[in-house]
Amino acid sequence: MQDHEYQHNFHTHTFRCKHAKGDVADYCEMAVARGMKTLGISDHSAMPDDRWLQARMNYIDLPEYTGAIDRAREEYPSLRVVKGMECEYVPEHRNWYEDELLGEYQFDYLIGAAHFFLDDEEKWVGTYGGTNSASALVQFANYNAAMMATGLFDFIAHPDLFGNCYEHWDANTEACSRDIIAAAAEYGVGLEVNALGIRKQAAKRPDNPYPLYPWRPFWEIAADYPVQVIVNADAHRPADLQGKAGEAFSIVTDLGLTHMDVDQLGVRTSARRHQASR
Ligand SMILES: [Zn+2]
Ligand SMILES: [Zn+2]
Repeated sequence: MQDHEYQHNFHTHTFRCKHAKGDVADYCEMAVARGMKTLGISDHSAMPDDRWLQARMNYIDLPEYTGAIDRAREEYPSLRVVKGMECEYVPEHRNWYEDELLGEYQFDYLIGAAHFFLDDEEKWVGTYGGTNSASALVQFANYNAAMMATGLFDFIAHPDLFGNCYEHWDANTEACSRDIIAAAAEYGVGLEVNALGIRKQAAKRPDNPYPLYPWRPFWEIAADYPVQVIVNADAHRPADLQGKAGEAFSIVTDLGLTHMDVDQLGVRTSARRHQASR
């Protein structure tokens, strides 16, 4: 599949996270121009305590962000625009995801993402620098599994993100991967083959020793489990809405992985939540 042939993207950022370009309407324009069918907007989540602000929207931006998505739904009727966010899971805010995001703001789907994880002392560790040890891989896997167990998240972004900071595939990466993939199978949560990682691999400096992601052996293991996967561009600029999506999709087809039903993602979730709230 060529990049432009993949017509869905559920992982899209806006300027509000401070490291992406463009607003919801700019992505909609690009998606319509390219004949895409689905555009899920999923900026880096605001947090009620405004933690980790350098790479996410401020809490005060939340109503304006959701308003921009609601407006785009009316202004681009030929495109299915879906309301999401890419979230860390902070256990002490458990009710906030449920009540405010899924309840009050009516998010259609939430992505779980471990850019940080909790270590054995319940302290937060940054994933980019934190997983270059066997024990950190265990903690990373445990954190991802805990995130999936909440039932809040439809899929997990780049579950093989440890390829950013762990050099070689070994028994530790294998165990970590099996724990994450087994949890995804148990809880019915999707796993994302992230095409931004492929763009990063293409631009990798020769002195970078890390394989980055998608890390192929992770997905080879996934083929042994009853899990569903999803390809996303993880766009941080409108031009990247389909960037390397075709290559990411070839991992799915080569390994015989099962892709999530993109027409049901978001729809099914809001129907389920509507039912739960009655
Ligand atoms: Zn980002
Ligand atoms: Zn993202």
